[in-house]
Amino acid sequence: MRKIAIFNQKGGVGKTTTAVNLAAGLSRNNKRVLLIDLDPQGDISACHSTNAQYNLYHFLMEGAELNECISKLGKNLDIIHCDHKLADAEHQIAKEPNSISFLSGRFSSKLNYDYIILDCPPSLRLLNKSALFYANEVIVPTSTDILGYYSLEKTVKRIVEFNKATGCEVLASSVLPTMFDSRNKVCNETLFKMRKEFTPLLVAEPIRVNSKLKEAPKSKMSIFSYDKKFSGADDYWKFVKLVLENE
Ligand code: ADP
Ligand code: MG
Repeated sequence: MRKIAIFNQKGGVGKTTTAVNLAAGLSRNNKRVLLIDLDPQGDISACHSTNAQYNLYHFLMEGAELNECISKLGKNLDIIHCDHKLADAEHQIAKEPNSISFLSGRFSSKLNYDYIILDCPPSLRLLNKSALFYANEVIVPTSTDILGYYSLEKTVKRIVEFNKATGCEVLASSVLPTMFDSRNKVCNETLFKMRKEFTPLLVAEPIRVNSKLKEAPKSKMSIFSYDKKFSGADDYWKFVKLVLENE
Protein backbone atom coordinates (compact mmCIF):
# COMPACT_ATOMS: atom_id res chain seq x y z
CA MET A 1 0.00 0.00 0.00
CA ARG A 2 1.42 3.38 -1.03
CA LYS A 3 0.70 6.21 1.40
CA ILE A 4 1.26 9.55 -0.29
CA ALA A 5 1.09 12.91 1.48
CA ILE A 6 0.34 15.88 -0.76
CA PHE A 7 2.24 18.58 1.04
CA ASN A 8 3.68 22.06 0.66
CA GLN A 9 4.04 24.62 3.43
CA LYS A 10 2.41 27.21 1.21
CA GLY A 11 -1.33 27.50 0.61
CA GLY A 12 -2.94 27.96 -2.80
CA VAL A 13 -0.35 25.96 -4.75
CA GLY A 14 -2.68 23.18 -5.94
CA LYS A 15 -2.44 20.59 -3.14
CA THR A 16 -6.14 19.88 -2.88
CA THR A 17 -6.59 19.99 -6.66
CA THR A 18 -3.77 17.47 -6.98
CA ALA A 19 -5.04 15.22 -4.17
CA VAL A 20 -8.57 15.09 -5.62
CA ASN A 21 -7.53 14.47 -9.23
CA LEU A 22 -4.70 12.08 -8.42
CA ALA A 23 -7.08 10.00 -6.28
CA ALA A 24 -9.74 10.03 -9.01
CA GLY A 25 -7.20 9.17 -11.72
CA LEU A 26 -5.72 6.27 -9.77
CA SER A 27 -9.18 4.87 -9.07
CA ARG A 28 -9.88 5.03 -12.82
CA ASN A 29 -6.81 2.83 -13.27
CA ASN A 30 -8.40 0.15 -11.10
CA LYS A 31 -6.53 1.08 -7.95
CA ARG A 32 -8.44 1.10 -4.68
CA VAL A 33 -7.96 4.57 -3.25
CA LEU A 34 -8.72 6.25 0.06
CA LEU A 35 -8.46 10.05 0.05
CA ILE A 36 -8.11 11.63 3.50
CA ASP A 37 -8.67 15.33 4.10
CA LEU A 38 -6.36 16.63 6.83
CA ASP A 39 -7.02 20.31 6.26
CA PRO A 40 -9.49 21.79 8.78
CA GLN A 41 -10.65 24.07 5.98
CA GLY A 42 -12.39 20.94 4.70
CA ASP A 43 -11.84 21.69 1.03
CA ILE A 44 -12.35 18.06 0.01
CA SER A 45 -15.96 18.24 1.21
CA ALA A 46 -16.40 21.25 -1.03
CA CYS A 47 -15.11 19.17 -3.96
CA HIS A 48 -17.21 16.06 -3.27
CA SER A 49 -20.62 14.99 -2.05
CA THR A 50 -19.59 13.43 1.23
CA ASN A 51 -22.39 11.61 2.98
CA ALA A 52 -20.70 9.78 5.85
CA GLN A 53 -22.29 10.21 9.25
CA TYR A 54 -18.97 11.08 10.92
CA ASN A 55 -15.68 12.56 9.77
CA LEU A 56 -11.95 12.33 10.44
CA TYR A 57 -12.25 14.20 13.76
CA HIS A 58 -14.72 11.62 15.08
CA PHE A 59 -12.49 8.79 13.90
CA LEU A 60 -9.30 10.22 15.41
CA MET A 61 -10.64 11.74 18.59
CA GLU A 62 -13.94 10.12 19.48
CA GLY A 63 -13.56 6.49 18.54
CA ALA A 64 -15.97 6.45 15.58
CA GLU A 65 -15.61 3.38 13.36
CA LEU A 66 -13.79 3.88 10.07
CA ASN A 67 -16.76 2.71 8.01
CA GLU A 68 -18.95 5.36 9.65
CA CYS A 69 -16.53 8.05 8.44
CA ILE A 70 -16.02 6.90 4.86
CA SER A 71 -18.02 8.26 1.93
CA LYS A 72 -18.05 6.05 -1.15
CA LEU A 73 -17.53 8.08 -4.28
CA GLY A 74 -17.01 5.44 -6.88
CA LYS A 75 -16.16 1.82 -7.47
CA ASN A 76 -12.59 2.28 -6.26
CA LEU A 77 -12.68 5.63 -4.50
CA ASP A 78 -13.45 6.34 -0.84
CA ILE A 79 -13.07 9.58 1.06
CA ILE A 80 -12.78 10.63 4.68
CA HIS A 81 -13.68 14.29 4.98
CA CYS A 82 -13.10 16.73 7.82
CA ASP A 83 -14.21 20.17 8.94
CA HIS A 84 -12.99 23.07 11.11
CA LYS A 85 -13.28 20.91 14.22
CA LEU A 86 -10.16 19.01 13.19
CA ALA A 87 -8.12 22.05 14.31
CA ASP A 88 -9.16 21.23 17.92
CA ALA A 89 -7.44 17.86 17.60
CA GLU A 90 -4.02 19.58 17.72
CA HIS A 91 -4.28 20.35 21.46
CA GLN A 92 -5.34 16.84 22.25
CA ILE A 93 -2.64 15.23 20.11
CA ALA A 94 -0.06 17.39 21.91
CA LYS A 95 -0.97 15.59 25.13
CA GLU A 96 -0.28 12.17 23.62
CA PRO A 97 3.02 10.62 24.74
CA ASN A 98 3.93 9.73 21.17
CA SER A 99 2.23 12.42 19.13
CA ILE A 100 4.28 11.83 16.00
CA SER A 101 2.84 8.34 15.52
CA PHE A 102 -0.69 9.41 16.37
CA LEU A 103 -2.10 8.95 12.87
CA SER A 104 -0.22 5.68 12.26
CA GLY A 105 -1.65 4.38 15.52
CA ARG A 106 -5.23 5.22 14.56
CA PHE A 107 -4.84 3.74 11.07
CA SER A 108 -2.95 0.69 12.25
CA SER A 109 -5.68 -1.78 11.35
CA LYS A 110 -5.31 -3.34 7.93
CA LEU A 111 -6.77 -1.06 5.27
CA ASN A 112 -7.87 -2.65 2.05
CA TYR A 113 -6.53 -0.02 -0.35
CA ASP A 114 -3.72 0.28 -2.89
CA TYR A 115 -3.28 4.00 -2.26
CA ILE A 116 -3.88 6.34 0.67
CA ILE A 117 -3.75 9.97 -0.47
CA LEU A 118 -3.41 12.53 2.34
CA ASP A 119 -4.40 16.11 1.48
CA CYS A 120 -2.32 18.09 3.99
CA PRO A 121 -2.79 21.66 5.20
CA PRO A 122 0.02 24.19 4.63
CA SER A 123 1.68 23.93 8.05
CA LEU A 124 3.93 21.66 10.01
CA ARG A 125 1.72 21.34 13.06
CA LEU A 126 1.43 18.08 14.93
CA LEU A 127 -1.30 16.45 12.89
CA ASN A 128 0.61 17.18 9.71
CA LYS A 129 3.82 15.83 11.18
CA SER A 130 2.02 12.66 12.12
CA ALA A 131 0.71 12.49 8.53
CA LEU A 132 4.27 12.71 7.18
CA PHE A 133 5.28 10.03 9.66
CA TYR A 134 2.44 7.81 8.47
CA ALA A 135 3.14 8.40 4.76
CA ASN A 136 5.95 6.76 2.86
CA GLU A 137 6.09 9.39 0.12
CA VAL A 138 5.45 13.08 -0.33
CA ILE A 139 4.36 14.79 -3.53
CA VAL A 140 5.07 18.53 -3.43
CA PRO A 141 2.78 20.55 -5.71
CA THR A 142 4.48 23.89 -6.38
CA SER A 143 3.15 26.90 -8.24
CA THR A 144 5.52 27.98 -11.02
CA ASP A 145 6.26 31.45 -9.70
CA ILE A 146 8.85 33.10 -7.49
CA LEU A 147 7.08 32.59 -4.16
CA GLY A 148 6.26 29.05 -5.23
CA TYR A 149 9.93 28.33 -5.80
CA TYR A 150 10.87 29.68 -2.35
CA SER A 151 8.20 27.54 -0.72
CA LEU A 152 9.48 24.48 -2.58
CA GLU A 153 12.99 25.06 -1.21
CA LYS A 154 11.62 25.52 2.31
CA THR A 155 9.31 22.51 2.09
CA VAL A 156 12.03 20.13 0.90
CA LYS A 157 14.34 21.43 3.64
CA ARG A 158 11.63 20.85 6.25
CA ILE A 159 11.11 17.29 5.04
CA VAL A 160 14.86 16.57 5.37
CA GLU A 161 14.90 18.13 8.87
CA PHE A 162 11.77 16.20 9.80
CA ASN A 163 13.38 12.91 8.78
CA LYS A 164 16.52 13.71 10.75
CA ALA A 165 14.62 14.70 13.87
CA THR A 166 12.25 11.75 13.89
CA GLY A 167 14.28 8.97 12.30
CA CYS A 168 11.53 8.74 9.71
CA GLU A 169 12.40 8.08 6.07
CA VAL A 170 9.59 9.72 4.18
CA LEU A 171 10.66 10.31 0.61
CA ALA A 172 9.92 13.44 -1.41
CA SER A 173 9.05 11.35 -4.46
CA SER A 174 8.09 14.15 -6.81
CA VAL A 175 7.68 17.86 -7.29
CA LEU A 176 4.63 18.75 -9.33
CA PRO A 177 4.87 22.19 -10.95
CA THR A 178 1.37 23.70 -11.08
CA MET A 179 -0.44 26.67 -12.62
CA PHE A 180 2.04 26.78 -15.46
CA ASP A 181 1.48 29.34 -18.20
CA SER A 182 3.92 28.83 -21.07
CA ARG A 183 3.44 32.44 -22.26
CA ASN A 184 4.65 33.77 -18.93
CA LYS A 185 8.36 34.45 -18.50
CA VAL A 186 8.36 33.89 -14.72
CA CYS A 187 6.62 30.52 -15.12
CA ASN A 188 9.22 29.39 -17.65
CA GLU A 189 12.15 30.61 -15.57
CA THR A 190 10.76 28.97 -12.43
CA LEU A 191 10.20 25.65 -14.17
CA PHE A 192 13.73 25.78 -15.58
CA LYS A 193 15.16 26.47 -12.13
CA MET A 194 13.13 23.67 -10.54
CA ARG A 195 14.48 21.21 -13.08
CA LYS A 196 18.03 22.47 -12.66
CA GLU A 197 18.13 22.59 -8.85
CA PHE A 198 15.98 19.60 -7.97
CA THR A 199 17.26 16.91 -10.33
CA PRO A 200 17.64 14.42 -7.47
CA LEU A 201 13.92 14.66 -7.03
CA LEU A 202 11.61 13.89 -9.83
CA VAL A 203 10.23 17.11 -11.30
CA ALA A 204 7.10 16.06 -13.14
CA GLU A 205 5.68 17.62 -16.30
CA PRO A 206 3.82 20.77 -15.24
CA ILE A 207 0.07 21.13 -14.77
CA ARG A 208 -0.96 24.07 -16.95
CA VAL A 209 -3.24 26.84 -15.82
CA ASN A 210 -6.73 25.71 -16.73
CA SER A 211 -9.95 27.31 -15.55
CA LYS A 212 -11.76 23.94 -15.77
CA LEU A 213 -9.75 22.88 -12.71
CA LYS A 214 -11.31 25.78 -10.81
CA GLU A 215 -14.81 24.97 -12.05
CA ALA A 216 -14.84 21.21 -11.36
CA PRO A 217 -15.26 21.47 -7.54
CA LYS A 218 -18.42 23.56 -8.07
CA SER A 219 -19.97 20.49 -9.68
CA LYS A 220 -18.36 18.23 -7.03
CA MET A 221 -16.42 16.33 -9.68
CA SER A 222 -12.86 15.43 -10.55
CA ILE A 223 -11.53 16.97 -13.77
CA PHE A 224 -11.98 13.59 -15.50
CA SER A 225 -15.73 13.55 -14.82
CA TYR A 226 -16.17 17.28 -15.28
CA ASP A 227 -14.44 17.90 -18.58
CA LYS A 228 -12.00 15.53 -20.19
CA LYS A 229 -11.34 17.67 -23.25
CA PHE A 230 -9.15 20.31 -21.64
CA SER A 231 -5.52 20.55 -20.61
CA GLY A 232 -6.32 20.06 -16.90
CA ALA A 233 -7.52 16.51 -17.57
CA ASP A 234 -4.61 15.72 -19.92
CA ASP A 235 -2.01 17.03 -17.51
CA TYR A 236 -3.37 15.27 -14.44
CA TRP A 237 -3.83 12.04 -16.41
CA LYS A 238 -0.13 12.17 -17.38
CA PHE A 239 0.78 12.72 -13.74
CA VAL A 240 -1.36 9.77 -12.64
CA LYS A 241 0.49 7.60 -15.17
CA LEU A 242 3.84 8.81 -13.78
CA VAL A 243 2.80 7.88 -10.24
CA LEU A 244 1.74 4.44 -11.51
CA GLU A 245 5.05 3.97 -13.35
CA ASN A 246 6.88 4.56 -10.07
CA GLU A 247 5.07 1.76 -8.26
P1 ADP B 1 -4.05 24.35 -1.94
O1 ADP B 1 -4.76 23.09 -1.55
O2 ADP B 1 -2.57 24.18 -2.08
O3 ADP B 1 -4.38 25.50 -1.03
P2 ADP B 1 -5.86 24.41 -4.19
O4 ADP B 1 -5.73 23.09 -4.86
O5 ADP B 1 -7.05 24.64 -3.32
O6 ADP B 1 -4.53 24.77 -3.41
O7 ADP B 1 -5.80 25.52 -5.36
C1 ADP B 1 -5.95 26.90 -5.08
C2 ADP B 1 -6.86 27.52 -6.15
O8 ADP B 1 -6.24 27.44 -7.42
C3 ADP B 1 -8.20 26.82 -6.29
O9 ADP B 1 -9.17 27.76 -6.60
C4 ADP B 1 -7.99 25.88 -7.48
O10 ADP B 1 -9.20 25.61 -8.16
C5 ADP B 1 -7.05 26.70 -8.35
N1 ADP B 1 -6.16 25.88 -9.17
C6 ADP B 1 -5.39 24.84 -8.79
N2 ADP B 1 -4.67 24.37 -9.83
C7 ADP B 1 -4.99 25.12 -10.91
C8 ADP B 1 -4.59 25.14 -12.29
N3 ADP B 1 -3.68 24.29 -12.78
N4 ADP B 1 -5.14 26.07 -13.11
C9 ADP B 1 -6.05 26.95 -12.63
N5 ADP B 1 -6.48 26.99 -11.35
C10 ADP B 1 -5.96 26.10 -10.49
MG1 MG C 1 -5.94 22.58 0.14
